[in-house]
Amino acid sequence: MLASNNHFLSTPIEYLKGVGPQRGELLRKELSLNTYADILTFYPNRYMDRTQFTKITDLQNEGDYVQIKGKITYSEIIGEGRGKRLVSTFKDDTGVIELVWFQGINWIEKVVANGGNYIVFGKLSRFNQFWNIMHPEMEKIETESTETMNSFYPVYPSTEKLKARGITGKIMVKMVQALFVQLQPYHIVENLPANILTESNLMSKYQAVRNIHFPANNSELQQATFRLKFEELFIHQIGICKLKLNLSHIPGFLFFKVGDYFNEFYKHHLPFELTEDQKKVLREIRLDTQTGNQMNRLLQGDVGSGKTIVALLCMLLALDNGFQACLMAPTEILAQQHFAGIRDLLAPLGIQVGYLSGKVKIKERREVLKGLANGDIQIVIGTHALLEDPVVFFNIGLVIIDEQHRFGVAQRAKMWKKNSKPPHILVMTATPIPRTLAMTSYGDLDVSVIEHLPPGRKPISTIHRTELYRAKVMDFIRSEVDKGRQAYIVYPLIDESEKVDYENLEAGYEQVKQFFPAHKYNIAKVHGKQDAETRESNMNGFVKGKAQIMVATTVIEVGVNVPNASVMLIESAERFGLSQLHQLRGRVGRGADKSYCILLTSDKISAVGRERMSTMVNETSGFAISEKDLELRGPGEIDGTRQSGAADLKIADIIKDVGLMELTRNKAIQLLQSDPNLQTPQNENLRNFLLSRKDKEVWSKIS
Ligand code: ADP
Ligand code: MG
Repeated sequence: MLASNNHFLSTPIEYLKGVGPQRGELLRKELSLNTYADILTFYPNRYMDRTQFTKITDLQNEGDYVQIKGKITYSEIIGEGRGKRLVSTFKDDTGVIELVWFQGINWIEKVVANGGNYIVFGKLSRFNQFWNIMHPEMEKIETESTETMNSFYPVYPSTEKLKARGITGKIMVKMVQALFVQLQPYHIVENLPANILTESNLMSKYQAVRNIHFPANNSELQQATFRLKFEELFIHQIGICKLKLNLSHIPGFLFFKVGDYFNEFYKHHLPFELTEDQKKVLREIRLDTQTGNQMNRLLQGDVGSGKTIVALLCMLLALDNGFQACLMAPTEILAQQHFAGIRDLLAPLGIQVGYLSGKVKIKERREVLKGLANGDIQIVIGTHALLEDPVVFFNIGLVIIDEQHRFGVAQRAKMWKKNSKPPHILVMTATPIPRTLAMTSYGDLDVSVIEHLPPGRKPISTIHRTELYRAKVMDFIRSEVDKGRQAYIVYPLIDESEKVDYENLEAGYEQVKQFFPAHKYNIAKVHGKQDAETRESNMNGFVKGKAQIMVATTVIEVGVNVPNASVMLIESAERFGLSQLHQLRGRVGRGADKSYCILLTSDKISAVGRERMSTMVNETSGFAISEKDLELRGPGEIDGTRQSGAADLKIADIIKDVGLMELTRNKAIQLLQSDPNLQTPQNENLRNFLLSRKDKEVWSKIS
């Protein structure tokens, strides 16, 4: 995050004292350090406190990270094949431990063969009564001078290859020091506006860069870290908020009236009283559609919170203002369910509701396309097929995208083109968006939340059982079914093309039949490889209560609604994501009966797996679960974070620093409100910096 139009900072690293062409080449390859600027943002991994050492007699717990000062007295290579290792005896004046290496043995041996004094750092483990540290970090102590002793000695990331070529931690430190000898305050451009520095009590960029590498004390280190994280997140948020600002200025259709369709339905056909949250969301959408700008809103509400009825009422609003509306769902099953439900609800109003998916037969498809183009079809429900080019609308005004939170800006934009102005967009999701994602991947959308479920829901008991209990679990399900309830049994289907998963499902189906003999029970099998007809008829068998048990893949994950189902058994639950488990669990607990969700896993699951299961057992809030999911999986794997640039952050952590992200987001919004194009002199540096970066499109509107 340093301006690149700076001669000094763009100097190639070989010119730095102590580097030269050979090391330069290595550092380039191994650590992508190309220029002086790269070195400045090459932040230490940690700091070694060169004044604090643990004595060997005081070592206590396996797994502790310790720093010990001592002497290598003896080294030898022992073992064969994969067990081959280098073991050194390391002593201080209170005892002995072993240092062990399995990799890079030959070059390490050369280094340690002569013994010598070292500071070692690493994770403590115990083997044959001996403490040892595997692959420790090592720093040779040349002289005992106390001058260089500092409680914050930086330790930089490195690679085995660099170590093997003799580029030790100490050499890295010397290299960075050499740079700081030459570095002058004017080399470092201050990107943050002065008022933000003062308001948030931030040190200058120059100071921060110095102190992150060589802090004099802990408080300097903390302040430097804070300042650099602040800048990183602030700039990230400025980009996202600017995008949002651009979006909010896109002209959109006016839905200025609430008319007959809405009123008639609301007064006479609404099957229940809306909850306060549902009303609140409707008001928010009403306001959005009266500004003259396009709405881009995300509606977030846990499984079963009642998003569908909100969607339906919004569509009626569109119709009242002379527009068509569409509802798009991620799967055929869900789209069909929406279609059937909405068609029935709207039947008394005489509204034309169409259905479109890739599976619709040519003749019917032609009819639907015609109806959409001439306006006869007022509401269309379907799958992604609705995005395709042949789908032309007479006058589309509202697009609702259900359970498709992974939909990016680019995909949404396909719909924008389907009318003279882009239609209003409402994205609905039951996957609660952790705070951090709401500010990154979805940072360009406005967010509405349904927090409370409709009244009268019963809590669901969640139970984790291992394979050993399978027979008992089946007995339990049978007892529920015998009381007249229904049960889902779900198998993982991670990848639609995964053959093994279907085999598991088939094997599972055969097994379930053993427990539930055909003369007494009906079992419906539902999965994505069936043709639409079979699937729909099996599905209907379950919906209508003819089948007591449904054996399925995750196609039922979203949306399916069978209130009489009170048991959800999830096979190989350890293979599912937490949010997915929560979605599945949401299929039960919809009726009057006490409901159960049973997570069946193998006996041997990992510690993380166990923690995930216990999260499901103990947490009922989808929001808490998604936060936990994020924590257990790490940000790298989360959909969309990469796209938003969050994965490029060098020092901030989008999960751990979520509070700071919130703070910087607010600052970014304030700044853009007062100076949307960053034209005032005090924002000039920030503006130049942003223009020099890759997210230029966002800023292309700056004149
Ligand atoms: P989701 O938000 O998961 O899409 P749905 O819209 O499918 O939830 O609603 C779940 C169930 O709750 C449906 O059976 C629906 O009819 C019912 N429901 C929705 N809103 C209310 C309400 N205000 N009062 C009572 N039941 C409601
Ligand atoms: Mg839904």
